[in-house]
Amino acid sequence: MALQLAPDKVESDVDLLARIHALSEQVKGLVNAEKALYDSQQQLDAQVRVYRQLYEVGKRLNASLDVDNVARIIVQFVVYELYFERCVVLLKTNSGFRVAAHEGYYNEADASALETLELPTGSPVASVLDTYTNGFSKTEPSEGSPFAALAVALRLDELTGLPIAAGPDGVRGFVVAGNRAEKWEYHTRVADEAKFALGFANLVSQSGTALSTVEAYAALNQERNALEEKVRERTRELSTAMESLKALDKLKTNFFSNVSHELRTPLTLSIGPIEMLLRPGTALDAESRSVLTSVHANQLRLLKLINDLLDFSKMEEGKHSLRVVPIPLVQTVRYYLSTLQAAADVRRIELLLNVPEDDDVLYADANMLEKIVMNLLSNAFKFTPNGGKITLDVQFDTARVVVAVTDTGIGIPEDKREVIFQRFSQVDSGENRQYEGTGIGLAMVKEYMALHGGVVSVESAVGSGSKFTLAFKRGSAHFDPRDIADQHVEVAAPKAHNVVDIWETARSESIAPPALSSPPDAVPAAPPTAAAPDARRPTVLVVDDNHDLRRYISSVLSEHFEVHVAKDGAAGLESARALVPDLVISDVMMPRMSGYELCRAMKQDASDLARVPVILLTAKAERSMRLEGLQCGADDYLIKPFDCDELLARARNLITLRAQENALAAAHRQLVAHSEVIARDLRQARAFQRSLLPTEPSPDRLITSTVYEPCAVVGGDIYDIVEVRSGVFRLFIADAAGHGVQASLRTILLRNEYDGIKRHAPSPQAAIVALNDRLTRLDADVVMHFTCACVDVLPRADGTLDVTYANAGHVPLFVAGANGVREVLARGPLLGFSPDITVDELEFRVDRDETLILTSDGMLEERGLDGEEFGGEPFLRALVEARSRGGRIASDLLEALKRFAASSPLTDDVTIVSVQAPAARTVE
Ligand code: ADP
Repeated sequence: MALQLAPDKVESDVDLLARIHALSEQVKGLVNAEKALYDSQQQLDAQVRVYRQLYEVGKRLNASLDVDNVARIIVQFVVYELYFERCVVLLKTNSGFRVAAHEGYYNEADASALETLELPTGSPVASVLDTYTNGFSKTEPSEGSPFAALAVALRLDELTGLPIAAGPDGVRGFVVAGNRAEKWEYHTRVADEAKFALGFANLVSQSGTALSTVEAYAALNQERNALEEKVRERTRELSTAMESLKALDKLKTNFFSNVSHELRTPLTLSIGPIEMLLRPGTALDAESRSVLTSVHANQLRLLKLINDLLDFSKMEEGKHSLRVVPIPLVQTVRYYLSTLQAAADVRRIELLLNVPEDDDVLYADANMLEKIVMNLLSNAFKFTPNGGKITLDVQFDTARVVVAVTDTGIGIPEDKREVIFQRFSQVDSGENRQYEGTGIGLAMVKEYMALHGGVVSVESAVGSGSKFTLAFKRGSAHFDPRDIADQHVEVAAPKAHNVVDIWETARSESIAPPALSSPPDAVPAAPPTAAAPDARRPTVLVVDDNHDLRRYISSVLSEHFEVHVAKDGAAGLESARALVPDLVISDVMMPRMSGYELCRAMKQDASDLARVPVILLTAKAERSMRLEGLQCGADDYLIKPFDCDELLARARNLITLRAQENALAAAHRQLVAHSEVIARDLRQARAFQRSLLPTEPSPDRLITSTVYEPCAVVGGDIYDIVEVRSGVFRLFIADAAGHGVQASLRTILLRNEYDGIKRHAPSPQAAIVALNDRLTRLDADVVMHFTCACVDVLPRADGTLDVTYANAGHVPLFVAGANGVREVLARGPLLGFSPDITVDELEFRVDRDETLILTSDGMLEERGLDGEEFGGEPFLRALVEARSRGGRIASDLLEALKRFAASSPLTDDVTIVSVQAPAARTVE
C-alpha cells in the first residue's frame, strides 16, 4: 500500500526529518560526549592507579634502608608500572657516576654491558649529566650530540632523565628511562602522557627524599657503630684496669692479713706474761704496777686493732665463715655487762639490763656475737658522758631475737645515720675530734649481722642519745646446716681486748681499770697554778689527749725538766698562759682545740707566750701536714712513734735556744737603756760645746765666718776668737782625741785651760806652750791629748792681714785667693804628752781679698762614696767656689762637704773658721 501524503502532511514530514536529523546529531554528540567522558574517566582511573601505586612504592621507598634497594624499587616501578622499556638509576660517586640499578626488557649482552658501565668524571656521559642538572628528554638524539653517547651507553633511542635532588641545588643522581625504536610503538602507546607526567616525576622526587633518609640513616649507623666500638674498647680497658686493681687489692689484703698475723703472735706472747705479773698478790711496787698496767692496756688495744684489721681483711675477701652454736643469750649478755659494771661505776654511768624472765638460745657465731655486742657497748661508753645511762634490752619474738643497746650520749645527726655503717666513717673525723676510733666497728657489725641473716638499725636524737637494734632471725633454719655446730656453749666473759676500750674510758678518769688494779696516773695533770715550778729546772708543758702518751712523755722528760700536762689544746692554752713554760710539746689531733690551733694561738699572743717554743707530735707523716705544722709557727715537728732520746735532745735544744734568746733579749733591753742614757748625755755634751763657742767680732773689724758641726757621737772640736790686743785677734782651733761624752769633757777642760792663758800669752807660740804646760800638769788620770793651731791676725788698713801662726800637730792653714789656695803649716808636736816642747812660729801676710781658713781634721778626712778623702782636690775646688761666691765661706764649705760625704751624719766633728781683713780703708 502506497503512502498517500497530504500537502500539509508532506510539510510536517519534512519537519520531522529535520527534527530526526537534529536528534541524531544530538545523539551523536551525546555518544561523543560519553566517549570523551569515558576516556577521561579512564585517564582519571589510570591516574588514581598510578597515585595508589606511587603511594605503595613510596612506602616501600621510605621503609628501605639501603641505597641500592631504593634504586631497585625505582627502576622496577618505572619499567613495570609506567611501561618504559628500560630504566637506569645513576648515582653520583666521588669519581663520577655509577649504575646503582637497572631494569628493562633487553638481552643478556645489554644487561651485562649496563652492569659494568663506568661513567668517570670528565667522560662525555658524565659531563652531560653534570651539565643538564634540571633533567632532559630526547628522542633519537642526533649523532655527535652530547646525549648520543648517553643513549648509546644505555642502549636507548629515546630517553628521559630526571635529577634526584640532593638539596636545594645539588644533584645526587639521575633516573633515566627510555625506549628503543623497534619497541617504540608499543611502549609509547601504553606509556601514556598521564602516567609519564605524573608517575615518573613523582617517583623521582620521592626517590630523592628516600635517598636522603637512607644516607642520613647510613651516617647515623656509622656513627653508632663507631660509638659502639668506642664503648667496647672502653669496656675492655676498664675491665683490664679492674683486673689489675683486683689483683693489687688482693695483694694488699694478703699483705694486710699476713702482717696482722705476724703482729698478733708476738703481741699475744707479751700480753700473757704481763697479765701474770699483774695478778693480785705479785710483788710489784705501785709505780711498776702502774706502768705495767698502762703497757698492758695498750698491748690489748693494739691486739684489738690488729684483730679488727684481720676481720676487716677477711671481710674484704668475703672469707668469713660461720660456726653457729646455740648461745644462752640472756646469760651471756648479763655476763658481758657484769664485766663492765666497775668501769660504769667509775664514770657514774647507770648500766641497765632489760631481759625476759626466760632465757632462750640465739643461734649465732659466738665470737661474732661478742664482737657485735661489745662494739655497740663500747661505742655507747665512748659517746656517753659521765653520769649517763646505758641500757641493754633482749626480746624474743616468734620469728626474731632482738638485742638493743640504748645510750643517753651525744646522739648521731640524721644525715650520718646511714653512713656510719660504712667502713672508716665517723660523724666527726676532723683534727679536733674528741673521740678516737677507726670507723671499722659498725661496718663489721653490719657485715656480721648480714652473715647471720639479721640486720642492724639505729634511732637517734642529737644530744639525747642513740639506740642500736640488732634483729636476728630466730632458730637455725636459715643457716647452712654445715655451719651449725650443735654443741653446748659455756658462757664466757668477753675477751680482754674487746673490753679494753671501755676500761680506757674509765682509766682516762685517772682511775684504774677494774680487772687489773693500779694506782692513778703517776704524773697527774697539774692545775696550772698549783705547783710552784722548780726555779732551777726548765718547765715543759705536755699537751696530749691520750693519757698514756702524756704519762710516757712526762716520764721521759721529768728527770730533766719540770713537767706539766694538759688534756687537750684548750686546757693546754690555759696552762701555757698561766705558766709561760720554757717549752710546749703538743699532739696535733685533740678534742676542743687541735695542736695547730694551740700553736697558732700561742704564737699570736701579745705576751711572752709568743716566744715559747712548740714541738708538735703527730702520727701524720705527710709533707703537707708537716708544712701546716711549721706554717702555724711550730718550732719543731716529731712523727710518732718517736724516739725518746730524740725528743729529749730536741726539747733540750729548743730550751737552750730559748734561754739564749732570753739572755740576748735581756742584753738588748740593757743596751737600749744604756744607749738612751748615752744619747741624753750626748745631747747635753753637744749643748755644752755649743755654749762654749765665741761670738764673732764685728765685720768692720774682722770678717769672719764660722761653722761647728758636731758628729753623731760628738767629737772633741773647739774653736775660739778673741781680741787679745788692740786690733789683734787670736784664733784658736783644737781637736781633742776621742769621741763622745769623754771627748766633750776634755774639750770643756781644754777650753777652761785655754781661757786661763789666752789673753796673757804674748804670742800664739807662747799660748800653745803655756797650754801644754797646764795640761801636762793635770791629774795623771786625765788623759788630754789634742792638736791645736793658734793664730794672731792683725787686719791692716790696706786690707791685708798680718798673721802670726803656731801649730801643735794640727792640720795646715789655707790661704785662698784669686790665684788659688796655698797651704801653710808650722811644725809642733801633739799636746798633752810631754811638758817640754818646741813649737815653731811663722809670720806671713794674707793679701787683700785673700781669705785665711782654719779647719779641723774632720773637714779634711771625711770620705766620699768612692773612699776618697774630701781634704784633697774636692776641698780645694769647694774652697775656690765658696770664695768666688763671696758669701759665708765656712757654711758653703760645710755644705760642699755634706754633699760629698758618704755618711750622714758626719763621722767626726767639723769646725771651719775663715777670716779676712775688712776692705781697705783710707788711712786718716
Ligand atoms: P669508731 O667508733 O671506731 O669510730 P664505729 O664504726 O664503731 O667506729 O662508729 C662509727 C661512728 O659512728 C663513730 O665514730 C661515731 O661517730 C658514730 N657512733 C657510733 N656509735 C655511736 C653512739 N652510740 N653514739 C654516738 N655516735 C656513735
